[in-house]
Amino acid sequence: MIVKYRGTSIKKRKLEALIRRLPRNHPKIQSIIEDLNKHISGIKGEESLDYYLNFLDNKKFHIFQDLRLKGANGAFQLDFLLVALEFILIIEAKNYVGEIIIEEKYNQLTKKHNDKEEYYPDPIRQVLHQRFQLITWLKENNFTVPPIEMLVVFTNTNSRVQTIASTPIYKNNIIRSTLLIEKINSLTQSHNRGMLDLNTHKKISKKLLKSHTPLDENLITKYNIDINDIITGVQCPNCLSTPIQKIRANWVCSICNSISKDAHLLAIEDYALLIKDKFSISEIREFFNLESKSIATKLITKLNLKHEGKSKGRIYTYK
Ligand SMILES: [Zn+2]
Repeated sequence: MIVKYRGTSIKKRKLEALIRRLPRNHPKIQSIIEDLNKHISGIKGEESLDYYLNFLDNKKFHIFQDLRLKGANGAFQLDFLLVALEFILIIEAKNYVGEIIIEEKYNQLTKKHNDKEEYYPDPIRQVLHQRFQLITWLKENNFTVPPIEMLVVFTNTNSRVQTIASTPIYKNNIIRSTLLIEKINSLTQSHNRGMLDLNTHKKISKKLLKSHTPLDENLITKYNIDINDIITGVQCPNCLSTPIQKIRANWVCSICNSISKDAHLLAIEDYALLIKDKFSISEIREFFNLESKSIATKLITKLNLKHEGKSKGRIYTYK
């Protein structure tokens, strides 16, 4: 059974907001768009594995999609974690396209596609490190550590994967999606003695779910963007022009003439995703470039956001 679903990616929402809020000719926009595309491709790869994992015995496996845990040595993220009575399995999905070469000797992965070469860390070292962090986390939380297996799964059919290695882990633990179920079945057979009792199985799952800490990055800091480069104002949902005019109940775009009732919602979301998710009405009024205080107050209070404090000093929390 799926204990934790992937859910909408907050990283994707943040990257999209940042792209909307930067001028088209901003020097960093291309690399941000590339990062967004890579992120979306990664999610697609993970989603494609959901199909295969559906074939597993629903009661036997507790499945966690996109789990991020914080240990004493920092946080770590797992594309999939499967908890069974016999063992725990870490799955790292790679949705790379092109020719993939993994070289054990240099601990690197080379991706060749469209006459372009890109280099990534060795995915086996990556899952070994995740395994180490998970063991530490289990110990920190006073669990006896069951056998922990790991797999690197290449999910894209438009790729040719080649491994140059001598250690068995490189031969046995790097697979294609189509082999996933067979591999999990054989792992189950090799760990035929149940290590966890039903109660501990439940306890570990519960603790893992409770300990999930989503990554909350400030992208303006991450990409070292000058805050003055961020486009302020309510944007037209159709053509992204800014600012658009508030005319009675509507937002009207003078560029494409489209009319919207809730263009401000996206602007509040952008503010919360990029700048901060706790704000006063005057901060939002400034971001919206709105002259009217009463309109700003009306727009915000209508949203029924959680808030603290009174009158002028009232701080609203977005989600
Ligand atoms: Zn427009």
